[in-house]
Amino acid sequence: MPRPLVAMIDIAAMQHNCALAKSCIPQAKTWAVVKANAYGHGLDNAIQGFADADGLAILEIDRAVYLRNKGWVKPILLLEGFFDAADIKIALDFQLDVVVHCVDQLAMLSATTMLSARLNVHIKVNSGMNRLGFMPGEVKDVYTRLRLIDGVHHIGFMTHLANADTPGNVRLPVDQQAQVFYDAIDGLPGVVHIQNSAGNLFYSKLKTDWVRAGIMLYGATPGVKSSEDLGLKPVMTLQSKIIAIQHINVGDAVGYGSCFVADKTMVIGVVACGYADGYPRHAPTGTPILVNGVKTRIVGRVSMDMITVDVTDIADAKIGSEVILWGRGLPIDEVATAAGTIGYELMCAITTRVPLLTY
Ligand SMILES: *Cc1c(COP(=O)(O)O)cnc(C)c1O
Repeated sequence: MPRPLVAMIDIAAMQHNCALAKSCIPQAKTWAVVKANAYGHGLDNAIQGFADADGLAILEIDRAVYLRNKGWVKPILLLEGFFDAADIKIALDFQLDVVVHCVDQLAMLSATTMLSARLNVHIKVNSGMNRLGFMPGEVKDVYTRLRLIDGVHHIGFMTHLANADTPGNVRLPVDQQAQVFYDAIDGLPGVVHIQNSAGNLFYSKLKTDWVRAGIMLYGATPGVKSSEDLGLKPVMTLQSKIIAIQHINVGDAVGYGSCFVADKTMVIGVVACGYADGYPRHAPTGTPILVNGVKTRIVGRVSMDMITVDVTDIADAKIGSEVILWGRGLPIDEVATAAGTIGYELMCAITTRVPLLTY
């Protein structure tokens, strides 16, 4: 019998979240962002769950080719474009749209003979986040240079919001960032895309042709409101079982470092899931977890393959009891908050030894 740890993926929830993402700005098209193995959910599941999206956005080029080979015929966007000339060839062969964010990429593109092939290019504008993109003042020149390259087909424009998940941020307010972008592309023809999930949910008034939705598709919140309040359904349920029970007395310690010490007699359940599966090692005592559907807490240090949980008050807890680490009945964001991180990091960190199954 295999180890009882699995990540169950709810395809119907993906479809629900995708429909919700599309409804925020009904006139815009939607890129479903599937980088990092669809945020840990598996690309095959993404193809099914996001079949109604208008395109898929990803940054690993081999995975983009995989999507094409699996039959995805709608657009695929490479979020960071290409890293060398060989990538450009692949993008042409598999009809991948590319982002161009720096002059080095422009030079690579100019040096490539594209013959009859056609490449859609999205110019990335640095509107204040100072991560990727051309400075606003460079955009018109970049556009002109791209237009001169044989083989460049459609040219679009994109930028990325730094603070759509933190309204009230005074250093770089969303509307100010968007205005920098609009000014930079003023008068240039082509599609634009700006919003990530938070932008899509909270800044649907910003004029755009496409959105790039990631986290919301997986049923976790980008911030501000809970996933439940946003109407999102959890997609991944990380579930396992209790594989051992220990009865401990006052003063007994649990796990590495003996960090947790019982102040009463306790029953400890040992769960088959650890940091080698992607459960965060820094999750402290008190992080929520469900045993037989009852919310309790982890105690002591997370180890590589196991977690210890308090089942003292869960009378029917025994070897084989069902455990939910996050997902149905326990939003991933609650676990993330307890562990001092965000749902994004938890879902992306699921390792390959955890089988992805679908409901
Ligand atoms: C990852 C990514 C997104 C998706 O962001 P979410 O917050 O998950 O919606 C959008 N745009 C770009 C450029 C990205 O890299």
